[in-house]
Amino acid sequence: MAELPVSFIQVTDITHVTPRMARVTFDAERLDDSVGRTPDQQVKLCFPRSGQQLPVLPEQGDDATSWYQAFLAIPESERPWMRSFTIRRRGPANTVEIDFVLHGDTGPATSWAGSARPGDRLGMVGPSEVYSAPVSLTDSIANSDWLLLAGDETALPAIGTLLEALPEGAPALAFIEVADAAERQDFQTAGDATVNWLYREGTPPGRSDVLIDAVRKAEFLPGSPFAWLAGESAAVRALRRHLVNDRGLDKASVDFSGYWRFKLTQDDAPTAEDMAEAQERLAQFQAAAADGRPE
Ligand SMILES: Cc1cc2nc3c(=O)[nH]c(=O)nc-3n(C[C@H](O)[C@H](O)[C@H](O)COP(=O)(O)OP(=O)(O)OC[C@H]3O[C@@H](n4cnc5c(N)ncnc54)[C@H](O)[C@@H]3O)c2cc1C
Repeated sequence: MAELPVSFIQVTDITHVTPRMARVTFDAERLDDSVGRTPDQQVKLCFPRSGQQLPVLPEQGDDATSWYQAFLAIPESERPWMRSFTIRRRGPANTVEIDFVLHGDTGPATSWAGSARPGDRLGMVGPSEVYSAPVSLTDSIANSDWLLLAGDETALPAIGTLLEALPEGAPALAFIEVADAAERQDFQTAGDATVNWLYREGTPPGRSDVLIDAVRKAEFLPGSPFAWLAGESAAVRALRRHLVNDRGLDKASVDFSGYWRFKLTQDDAPTAEDMAEAQERLAQFQAAAADGRPE
């Protein structure tokens, strides 16, 4: 059975990729060889509660259930704040880079990133197939004609890894929503990728239609795409509905994930729509597993 590694990571460097994106380099206590070698690797970061120097970490588990039970067994007043992030890049030895959106709202992750210093420590759970199957770009692309990527700045780290992993000449169209032109990033890719940058220009994150409007109006490449969507939950749902209902994509060709929720923290209870989305993702995952296909 796959493991769910839990370890401390320590800040060694902090830079700003753009005004609203901090890149934090961490040295990990231990790191599996596979970490950072494939795109879209997700981790859960554990942030200390106020008054704590170090977050209290749950024991390492063999499966998502036992690990999460151990997490819940930590008394609530000591339980770390836990938020999801993406490994942006593996560095030398046991180092990893993670990009944090400085969204300016309250929230333990963004507040921590805004004042992080070398030597600060967090907990890291994963990456692991226990809670997120890796995107198999090779298989997904082999079964489709081109790759469609769409998301906001929280999806930028994952989109960066996906573009960088594209095979030579693989066709791709990316639509990325950010605050303004200062938030653009450059990506190296061997693929034949066109990146469309979309700017909110003053409209708050989670309230803008620029992403869905751009995808609706876009002239798609010939053939059938495999689509990867992430960002604010309602926007992701709207994008998925458009692709399935208006563009006729098969549901199995759309990998979608709500990364954050407008006006709700990651600790708030799931809404009915979140539950429906989770059910659909699970059904898709199980169908793919039964077929021996990648998710
Ligand atoms: C699989 C996965 C991978 C992710 N990868 C990354 C990553 O690599 N980098 C990254 O920065 N984020 C990433 N995210 C998104 C990140 O987990 C959320 O944005 C998270 O809510 C941030 O936690 P917080 O403590 O800052 O805010 P929370 O405490 O969760 O929320 C506090 C308030 O901030 C608002 N908020 C949260 N995020 C944003 C935002 N981006 N813009 C505006 N308002 C916001 C909420 O609506 C809420 O009102 C990922 C999410 C998932 C599920």
